[in-house]
Amino acid sequence: MITLPPKKSSAANVLAQMRAARDHDARWRDGKVFSLVYFADDEILQLTRDAYELFFSENGLNPMAFPSLKKFEAEVIAMTASLLGGDAETVGNLTTGGTESILLAVKTAREWGRAKKIAAPEMILPASAHPAFDKAAHYFDVQAIRVPVARDLRADVGAMKNAITRNAILIVGSAPAYPHGVVDPIAEIAHIAREREILCHVDACVGGFVLPFVRQLGYAIPDFDFRIPGVTSLSVDLHKYAYAAKGASVILYKNRALRRHQFFATTDWSGGIYISPTMTGTRAGGAIAAAYAVLNFLGEEGYLALTDQLMRTTTKIKNGINALDGVRVLGNPAMSILAIGSNSLNVYEIADELQARGWHIDRQQFPPSLHLTITPAHAASADQFLADLRDAVAQAKRFTVAKTLNAIQVRLAQIASKILPAQWMSELTARVGAISGAGAPTRSAAMYGMIATLPNRGDVNELVLDVLDGLTRASE
Ligand SMILES: *Cc1c(COP(=O)(O)O)cnc(C)c1O
Repeated sequence: MITLPPKKSSAANVLAQMRAARDHDARWRDGKVFSLVYFADDEILQLTRDAYELFFSENGLNPMAFPSLKKFEAEVIAMTASLLGGDAETVGNLTTGGTESILLAVKTAREWGRAKKIAAPEMILPASAHPAFDKAAHYFDVQAIRVPVARDLRADVGAMKNAITRNAILIVGSAPAYPHGVVDPIAEIAHIAREREILCHVDACVGGFVLPFVRQLGYAIPDFDFRIPGVTSLSVDLHKYAYAAKGASVILYKNRALRRHQFFATTDWSGGIYISPTMTGTRAGGAIAAAYAVLNFLGEEGYLALTDQLMRTTTKIKNGINALDGVRVLGNPAMSILAIGSNSLNVYEIADELQARGWHIDRQQFPPSLHLTITPAHAASADQFLADLRDAVAQAKRFTVAKTLNAIQVRLAQIASKILPAQWMSELTARVGAISGAGAPTRSAAMYGMIATLPNRGDVNELVLDVLDGLTRASE
C-alpha cells in the first residue's frame, strides 16, 4: 500500500516526478486531441494562468471577505447573460462546471415542482442530452424520461410532448448537444413548456460562447437562448469555448423567484449562519479570476476572431470528411463539434487506425460514430488529420473486405449500451476477455463487438462500475 512519504522531499524532486508522469498523457498542444482540452493559444493560456495564480489562495465561499471575487463573479455572470439574450430580470451563479450547473437546474426544478405539490417529479430529455441530467436524476430522485431523437438527430419535439405527464417539471433541449453538435428545436421545446406550464432548461454548456459569435459571423443559427420566452434556465461553460481555466461555468435563470429554489441556507449551526448558493462550499478563487480575465481580455472582438478561425477549420474538416467515400458528417452540426459516421464501414476500426497515427478521438454509439471537438489548436493540424483519416478509411475498407464478420460487428456495436473513453480500454478489455472466455481482443473495434455479445446488459454496467472503482486505486 502507498503511504505518505515518511520524510520531506525537495520541491524540485516532486515536480520532476510529476513531469515524468505526464509522458503518456494526451498531447493536446499538437492539435491531435479532439476532446477534453479547449486550447486557443499561448497568450490566453498564460493570461488565465497569471490570473489564476493572482487569486490562487482566495476562497469564493464567502464573497464578503473578497469583494474582488464578488465583483468578478457578478460581472462574468452579467456578461454571459447579456450574450445569451438575458434582460434585467436574468440572474445566475458561477459554478465549477457544466455538471454542477445542470445539477443545480434540476434541483431547482425539483423544488419548484415541490412547491406545486408534484411529489414524483419527471424531466423529459432528448436521447442526446448530456449524462449530467441522468446524474441529477440519480442524485435528486427525479425521473429522467429519455426520448429518442428524430432522424436529423435533433430532439423529437412531438415525441417529447407525448412523454409529458402530470408529474413533469422540466423539459430540456441542447444548444448544441455534445454527441453530434446539432442544436435542438429550442423554440418548439420552450413553446411546449409554456403550454404545459413547466420549466425549460437549455443546455448551452458547449455552445453558449460560440453560437452567438457564429451567428454574428453570418451563419444561420436559430434562436436558442433567453430571447425565447419559455426558456427558464440555461447552462454555459466558461472552461470550454470561453477558454477560461477549468472549474468555471454559469447557471442562469429567467428571474430571481425561480433561482430562489436553488439556494441553501442553515441558520442553526454552531459555526454560525451558513448560506451557499451552489453545490460547493470552498470555491477556487483562481477559477473565478481566470474567467474574469479571459472575458475581459478577448471581449467581443477576440471571441469573434477565434470563432471565425474555428468555423473555417470546421468547414475544412467537414468538407474533407464528406469528400471521402464511406464516411460522412452526421446531421447538420451548427458549430465546431461533429460526429463522423458510416453506413458501410466499422467506424471503430477507423478510430483504431487514427489512434495508431497519434490521434485521440472518442467513440460514440447509437449510431456508431467518432466525435470531434474542434478548437483553434486544430487549424494547424487539420490537413494532417484529413490525410490520416483518408488512410484510416482505406485501411478500414480492407478490414471490411477481409472480414465477413464486420457487418455483423457493426450491427452488434449499434446495440452496445456503453462506449468508453479510450483510456479505459485496456482494463476493460481484460475483463471482457475473462467473462466471455475468448481472451482479450487487441483492438478496440473488436472489443466493442465483444461487449455487444455479452448476454446480459447488466454485466456491462457492472463492468463499467468496477473500472470506476479501480481508477482511484494507486498502483505500486
Ligand atoms: C461538457 C458538457 C456538459 C458537462 O460539463 P462539464 O463541465 O464536463 O461538467 C454538459 N452539457 C454539454 C452539452 C456539454 O458539452
